[in-house]
Amino acid sequence: VERQDTPLSALTPEETTLVEAISNTTISEWSYYYTHGAHLAGQNLTMAEWTADRWRENGWNSSIVSYDVFLKNPVNKSLSLTYSDGSIYQPSLEEAVLEQDDTTSYPNRIPTFHGYSASGSADAEFVYIGRGQQSDFARLIELDVPLEGKIAISKYGGPFRGLKVKNAQENGMIGVIIFTDTSDDGDITEANGYAAYPEGPARNPSAVQRGSVQFLSTFPGDPTTPGYPSKEGCPRADPSPVIPRIPSIPISYADAIPFLATLDGYGTTGAEVNRTGWVGALNVSYSTGPAPGSTISMTNLMEEVYTPIWNSIGIINGTIADETIVIGNHRDAWIIGGAADPNSGTAIIVELAKAYGSLLSQGWRPKRNIVLASWDGEEPGLLGSTEWVEEYIPWLTETAVSYLNIDIGASGPWPYIEASPELHTIATDVMKKVSWMDTGRNMYDIWLEYTGGSIGVLGSGSDYTAFLHRGIGSIDMGTGGDAADPIYHYHSNFDSYHWMSTFGDPGFLAHKSMAQYLSLLAYNLADQDGIQFDLPNYARQLEAYYEDLLSTIDSTSQNLDTSSLRSAIDEFSIGATEVQALEKQAVAIDDPELLTLVNHKYRDFQRGFVSQGGLPNREFYRHLIFAPGIDTGYAATTYPGITEALEAGNNSLAAEFVQKTADAILIAANIIKT
Ligand code: GLU
Ligand code: CA
Ligand code: ZN
Ligand code: ZN
Repeated sequence: VERQDTPLSALTPEETTLVEAISNTTISEWSYYYTHGAHLAGQNLTMAEWTADRWRENGWNSSIVSYDVFLKNPVNKSLSLTYSDGSIYQPSLEEAVLEQDDTTSYPNRIPTFHGYSASGSADAEFVYIGRGQQSDFARLIELDVPLEGKIAISKYGGPFRGLKVKNAQENGMIGVIIFTDTSDDGDITEANGYAAYPEGPARNPSAVQRGSVQFLSTFPGDPTTPGYPSKEGCPRADPSPVIPRIPSIPISYADAIPFLATLDGYGTTGAEVNRTGWVGALNVSYSTGPAPGSTISMTNLMEEVYTPIWNSIGIINGTIADETIVIGNHRDAWIIGGAADPNSGTAIIVELAKAYGSLLSQGWRPKRNIVLASWDGEEPGLLGSTEWVEEYIPWLTETAVSYLNIDIGASGPWPYIEASPELHTIATDVMKKVSWMDTGRNMYDIWLEYTGGSIGVLGSGSDYTAFLHRGIGSIDMGTGGDAADPIYHYHSNFDSYHWMSTFGDPGFLAHKSMAQYLSLLAYNLADQDGIQFDLPNYARQLEAYYEDLLSTIDSTSQNLDTSSLRSAIDEFSIGATEVQALEKQAVAIDDPELLTLVNHKYRDFQRGFVSQGGLPNREFYRHLIFAPGIDTGYAATTYPGITEALEAGNNSLAAEFVQKTADAILIAANIIKT
């Protein structure tokens, strides 16, 4: 079949200025800066100030906003395996130190550890728990595998890592080891003949995924200040509802093999367990164990601190005071480098700030306010963004139109987006204005080829979370590799400038295209007369999620009257069509008052979805259309109040949430009614 490429859409003069101001050379310089210094949460004030300085010199009003948060710093840890014959295996727990990564010049390399992990020690037989979801535990219980008092060994992938630890803890286990498996590496493995990094594109066998083990799906942000900003001297709540009380340690696949091999021949084999994501690509049977007499000894010591973190905030005031677009990216990283996570995004927003500086120097001023944020403390638990939202929520509720997030802005050649439905059309239209890397094609065609045109539903795992759950529609964007691209060493020392410039994005061309994309998207949202929202698409998505809900009702064999939800969606749908027509009319007759009326409906409608007091036992999560799955953390659940009550077999709670969800949709429908 011959490829039919979409032609590149014409650019306005302002868009041309933005696009031409963006250079892969300067982006690579910003990347080099950010990847050569420690920037753990609360240890990056110099970088926060440097970032604010770059924005200020490009015409943004810039300042540092700090919070005082509860954190845990790693002190030391140990891990060993004692075989039933008394011999001992001692894993290295260290990543290889490579000349190429410049890690040799940092004697105080950040150890491999889990953010917010518990201090403690454990000494026990161990059990393989697959990806550690509730359904994995249900299967282990069905198979009579002993869990109480044992240590868990779990595979990365699937649910957010903190939920693996939470589930192990809730099943009476006393410690957790989480290992990286090569099963997520596509074709690019040493087993397939590819050399490992730094010689080649395959995973370095010593790579370890650090990361937080807070209980993300309960609430993000500082664990001691649920719902209010962590300012110095504020009251503190007990953090234990959202952080583990059993210790956990992350390890590499090389270190994991002897542990898994020990379980071969004991309990039930992986094939017989027969669970999604249970069997990986290592040369073991992924048996449950335990292996009688073979034990793990582990210790983990963490130091609890209250420490400042620093958001850099830049502002361009628009001519309209009460409409605001917020763009954000985090700056803290688990490692010295962090070339992809987060510094690809950070380099991109510094370049975006520079591009807007070119526009400002021509005398341009946007209609809507543009806020640019470099968040601190994302990695431990979305701290900087959540605390900032909690502090500025009155103003955000009054003025915020959209939040645009970029985290891993580039880790391969393929773009993806996840977004709330009102942004789908503008987000894909703007792709037609971006020429993609050196392909000679536009971003839209490349995106279509990679994703098949699918736009993800926002769950959690990055800084859009607090915005979305206060009713501020959001988009998250980035690039990644597919099965044939170099593997990305997530949260590992190998996410370095050298990896990025050699394998991830040589020439920084994906960075460049994404910087152009984000700049143009922000420009179109901030400066068009009518806010570029597609509400009929929101109605269509509500409809699609409703169909999914009917399937859930079916598959859980329950009776549930959803007619009030059905008619609320219909109401919303009518309002969406009407408000769109009104917007077209306002633009056509150039009626500023009418346009303001419509724009304010667009700005405000999504607040309706968060009007009913939040989800059961997790009031932080207020959006009743989508939320991070209670047992996934990253992946979203739609109509979460209803869906999760059904899945838990709680029919009366499901009925209650049918009503609440319908009420929320009716409130949104009322806001857009013309
Ligand atoms: N992006 C971070 C991660 O996935 C978020 C951590 C968190 O939300 O707690 O590890
Ligand atoms: Ca808080
Ligand atoms: Zn990140
Ligand atoms: Zn991260």
